[in-house]
Amino acid sequence: MIYFDNNATTQLDPLVLQVMVPFLESQYGNPSSIYSFGRAAAKAVVTAREQVAALLRCEPSEIVFTSCGTESDNSAIQSALLIDPDRKHLVTSKVEHSAIIKHAEALARRGYEVTWLDVDSTGMINLNELESAIREDTAIVSLMWANNETGVLFPIEEAAEICRSKGTLFHTDAVQAVGKIDIDLGRVPISLLSLSGHKLHAPKGVAALYVNRRTKFNPYLLGGGQENKKRGGTENTASIVALGRAAELALVALKEANVRIKALRDRFEEGLLESVSSLQINGDRIRRLPNTSNLAIEGVDSEGMLMLLDQRGICCSAGSACTAGSLEPSHVLKAMGFSNDRARGSLRFSFSRFNSEAEVEQALQIIPNAVEKLRSMSRGFLAA
Ligand code: PLP
Repeated sequence: MIYFDNNATTQLDPLVLQVMVPFLESQYGNPSSIYSFGRAAAKAVVTAREQVAALLRCEPSEIVFTSCGTESDNSAIQSALLIDPDRKHLVTSKVEHSAIIKHAEALARRGYEVTWLDVDSTGMINLNELESAIREDTAIVSLMWANNETGVLFPIEEAAEICRSKGTLFHTDAVQAVGKIDIDLGRVPISLLSLSGHKLHAPKGVAALYVNRRTKFNPYLLGGGQENKKRGGTENTASIVALGRAAELALVALKEANVRIKALRDRFEEGLLESVSSLQINGDRIRRLPNTSNLAIEGVDSEGMLMLLDQRGICCSAGSACTAGSLEPSHVLKAMGFSNDRARGSLRFSFSRFNSEAEVEQALQIIPNAVEKLRSMSRGFLAA
């Protein structure tokens, strides 16, 4: 199998698995217990917090472990709304992940007002529009750092600066960015940032929320006083330890691995641009993640292509999702102004440090053939 769907989830790094196993087997103490068996688990959580903080270049006390990126996103917004209940306005973009979109839509149904920023055909927001969208009663601005479908990187440093100058909380969903680009929270005035373990070779079901030390925070999950009273619930020690180790490895890999991953992605795109006619790259080609390639292939339907590639051993994602029995074109590609046909003919390939040049070369043999097969089938269908 060739796994080119690393924005969906990533393989667990064997080095990460290694450090988590003892906490599933023998070191099962509760980090809140005060005897030494519990304290050993608490110590491991402290180390993990330091490792995640090192990746983001922030203080360990600013890291709150959560259960998933979705929880981190939801808790960031809920906290902002509780801090100042008179602020009933939110700003976000039309291309966010559903963890933000569905939440903002639910809030809109409950009487909050949401400003949805547009993107242009390259997938980029307009900072002037952001600036004019912020009001006295804006509780929070939430913008993703990297888009999960196209890999497009929003100008987060500038957006954060605008929010700081206006005194508005700023949250970024950096679930796709962390571990793939260099992030220095010492330099960017971000109030809250979400990341998720399974996008950087840690297991699913563990994540973190960065809460700037000067940002007031209201916990989303109330319970025991875990996570410095910021998130109730017994810590998932094994997974937290894994996330810490994954962050440490991501920091080491950041420079070298990402140069290699970008070279794989660029070779992949170059090869397909040469061998497949009417193929276009979706999203800004420069300001995007080094690992993501979102391609519009004229005359193919991405679901059909996905299934054909699955049969031929390649995993990737389609630019449309099957919702309630119908093929819904991607909201991201639609927001970029693309037609339903272009969105329905788009596929996402996303790479990781576990992919190889040989896999890319193999895919470059398989994909053009699959495209030709689907195109000739649809020509036959139209002729019939
Ligand atoms: N935000 C973005 C940009 C994502 O890509 C994802 C996952 O695909 C999430 C949030 C949700 O993360 P999780 O799967 O950990 O809930």
